[in-house]
Amino acid sequence: MKKSRIKNLDLRYFAIPFSIIFALFSVFMYRDVMQRVEGMNEELEHYALAITDRYTSSLLNASDAQEIIEQLLEDKLQIVSEAILLLEDRKDSDKLTEIGERFQVDEIHLYDPSGEIIYSKENKYVGWKAYEGHPVDAFMKSGEKYLVEDIRKDSESENYYKYAYIRDADGSFIQIGIHTDKIRYFLDRFTMQRMLDQLADYDYIHNLMFISSDLKVEASSLKEYIGRPAAENQFVKTLATGEIHTERTVLKNQEVFRVSVPVKRNGYNYGILAVYWETAQSSAEIRGIIFQGVLKFTVVSVMLFSIMYYGYRKNRRNIQLAFYDELTGLPNQTYLEDHLEELLTHGKQKKVALMMLNCNNFKVLNMTYGYRYGNDILKEMAKKLEAITGKNRKIFRFDGDRFAVVVGDYKDKDQLRELGEEVLSLFKHPISTAAGSQFLSMELSIVENKNQKNTSDKMIQDAALALSSINHNEQFAISFYEEAMEDQLKRQDRIEKVLRGCILNFDDEQFSLAFQPKVNLATNEVEGFEALARLNVEGVGPISPLEFISIAEERHLIYDLGNLIFWRTGQFLEKLKERGYEDMTVSVNVSGIQLLRETFLTDFQNILKICSISPERLELEITESVLLSNYELVNRKLEQIKEKGILISLDDFGTGFSSLSRLRDMNIDIVKIDKYFIDKIVEHSEDKLITADIISMAHKFGLQAVAEGVEEKLQMDYLIKYHCDVVQGYYISKPLSAKEAVVFLDEKKQNKTDQ
Ligand code: C2E
Ligand code: MG
Ligand code: MG
Repeated sequence: MKKSRIKNLDLRYFAIPFSIIFALFSVFMYRDVMQRVEGMNEELEHYALAITDRYTSSLLNASDAQEIIEQLLEDKLQIVSEAILLLEDRKDSDKLTEIGERFQVDEIHLYDPSGEIIYSKENKYVGWKAYEGHPVDAFMKSGEKYLVEDIRKDSESENYYKYAYIRDADGSFIQIGIHTDKIRYFLDRFTMQRMLDQLADYDYIHNLMFISSDLKVEASSLKEYIGRPAAENQFVKTLATGEIHTERTVLKNQEVFRVSVPVKRNGYNYGILAVYWETAQSSAEIRGIIFQGVLKFTVVSVMLFSIMYYGYRKNRRNIQLAFYDELTGLPNQTYLEDHLEELLTHGKQKKVALMMLNCNNFKVLNMTYGYRYGNDILKEMAKKLEAITGKNRKIFRFDGDRFAVVVGDYKDKDQLRELGEEVLSLFKHPISTAAGSQFLSMELSIVENKNQKNTSDKMIQDAALALSSINHNEQFAISFYEEAMEDQLKRQDRIEKVLRGCILNFDDEQFSLAFQPKVNLATNEVEGFEALARLNVEGVGPISPLEFISIAEERHLIYDLGNLIFWRTGQFLEKLKERGYEDMTVSVNVSGIQLLRETFLTDFQNILKICSISPERLELEITESVLLSNYELVNRKLEQIKEKGILISLDDFGTGFSSLSRLRDMNIDIVKIDKYFIDKIVEHSEDKLITADIISMAHKFGLQAVAEGVEEKLQMDYLIKYHCDVVQGYYISKPLSAKEAVVFLDEKKQNKTDQ
């Protein structure tokens, strides 16, 4: 897994397990529900089958019972008829009454050939005449001798009767009737509808329907369906296949489960019994299963969520620590490396650039006001930088006082430069902190991913290199990385290695000191020398001290190199002493970093002691810019040095923009006027020069004035005229080796004795 993917703690890591659990639960729940539904359907089918069985056998029993009863009635009617037939005079009403009572027939009517009742048991209907369409009329016209009717409703009494008729030769006939209301009532219980109604009393049955084989509703517990056609597909199929069919459907706006069972007996298809089950119970049960499932899912989810949440919090903290800067909250260097690498290898953006922003005076602020103050400044810087974050711009805290901006999909170099200027402009106004407003000196380097094979490491390295190429005196400068810088870096590495060798090996000849004489104008005598460091790297040639001193400063070698310079100066002074020049002073250039080191004074005094040099033989040259960069601190340090009897010379005076009046407060002894003001003597007329003013101001504050870089007689004359104390420059001598310096002194001495 790519580190970059987890920097923003991907929610997928939580969503995926949750989705899996949710899916599993859903599948199991679905399976449970389906199993339960299937089980319930099977049960309902089973019950429907049992109901149908009961219904079928009841139907058959009912029809059997009806047949038997009807047969018995018929038999009885036949016996009565035969008894009547045995009568000699069938019109004898007494006899008929007797037969009626003996055989317990309810009605006996004697009709004349015209169909009028001439005798009736208990004389009830005497005079009634059969009319057209009446069953009696139908028998009369049929010509049959004997007929037994099916049970029917009597047209006069509205009661049910089973009638039989016996015809006499003269056309008169006798009607015998048995009252069948009780039998009918009994038989009624065995009708399709009644049986259906009884069965429909079962729990959860919404409706029962009997459908005839010609697809008509013969009976239904919901009466409104009786007589309706029932041509639904399911019924057609059930009839055709003779198999049970089930279906979920809606009946009277209620959801039902319908089981269609064929009603068959002895191979004969009577129709279909459709059982409509209510689904309310099964729905409730399914809801119960779902509720249980959801409950289980919730419990498991809450547990899982708690575990994951704690894991998430821990991970977030780890990620925060690993990929974010605690102080500013910005993504850190590790994140930057990953982010860049991701863009360079997998990114879709064609152009990727890296900007590195550095605060020049941050170290000094840190040292002067403390780390808490420095931290406040860094936080403010981060806040300001947030103004430029955007879709294709991401800000990082690289390290210390350096910030990085990764820019993607930009147009060209000009756009990058504009953005760089925008970044720098954020710091053009002083930053406000709890301790007041603070001016920051910023610089910015830019590296483009021109070479498609670039790695994040290389881009960061190049950005740092481009940054180091900026002259620190130049404020708000932008430097684009160029390949030449890399060669420069290699050269610097080489120089660094040589310097390290020289520091370790005291006698390494690649490093030496040159000594440039200084002449006192009042006595016209050599007063001393300035020690100037020299480095001659094999295969490269002589390196300017300006270059190798700054390399030594950047790579933290300056302190050890400075001590080496003191040793060599000590040796030179010893040599001069041996040759009788014990009054000579030698000035040594000291870097600000050396000076501010805690152990500087003690180390320096030790060297003086070991070389048996008295402090007044040495002068320290501190450049004006070093003093001004951190005035209070450096000036205090200079005071301590001065107290030890060591002279201090302010080098390159006039280039650091310190006011002349400030000279009064500086803990110095000598003002070394920069070559710039000496060169001006040749270029301008005397009235336009301020060189004399510097000399007189130095004198005013009790300081000695030294002119450096004196090359011409004109300059000498001017300096003599305005009482400059000491001169140094090619006019007198170029810097000399230790040996040459002694020869120079000897020659001077010789010349003097010659005069
Ligand atoms: P600086 O201390 O101002 O040294 C004077 C520079 O001016 C020397 O250059 C010297 O060779 C040069 N110079 C002297 N007279 C003339 C002249 O008449 N005409 C011209 N054109 N130049 C003249 P150098 O030796 O290249 O040193 C340059 C700077 O390097 C020094 O400026 C000093 O700041 C630094 N430096 C040299 N040696 C050391 C050292 O041992 N320690 C430290 N910290 N810095 C050093
Ligand atoms: Mg100097
Ligand atoms: Mg100088």
